[in-house]
Amino acid sequence: MPWPATARVRAAPRSAVSRGKPRWAVTESPGDPVRTYSDREIVDELFPATPEHLRPRQRRFRLEGAAEGRVLVVDRAGNARLCLVPVPPSGDPSHRLCCDLCGHTAARFEMTLLRSEVPGSAGRRWRYLTACLDPRSCDARRRNDDVVEQLLAG
Ligand SMILES: [Zn+2]
Repeated sequence: MPWPATARVRAAPRSAVSRGKPRWAVTESPGDPVRTYSDREIVDELFPATPEHLRPRQRRFRLEGAAEGRVLVVDRAGNARLCLVPVPPSGDPSHRLCCDLCGHTAARFEMTLLRSEVPGSAGRRWRYLTACLDPRSCDARRRNDDVVEQLLAG
């Protein structure tokens, strides 16, 4: 979809972003109805050679921090679908780790090790993953729900 020659791009209001609406809006002139584009449409238009794994996709879940370092996976309806429980850290603190949720790499003290009960296992099986210590930043960096869907699948 070609952009109109006179189009102006402006950031959507912050409140619209927090409700999951597109981040950008294009108006052809003042007074015209606002036409919005998703993050993916903008990447497709401006950077068509972007590899598929780097293109933003619609996400169904978000991460929320909870008490005692727990991380909740919340769906769009606001239901907590999964609780990730922190595991005490161990190992060489000078090592760098990669977040399984967003791919961010950082020092061990900026990361946490979490575990999630495999659904239907009645607490006998757990999955472990490395994640960013700050769930809000991690959620902002995540490009898709692939890892979360694997955890929910069991
Ligand atoms: Zn992360």
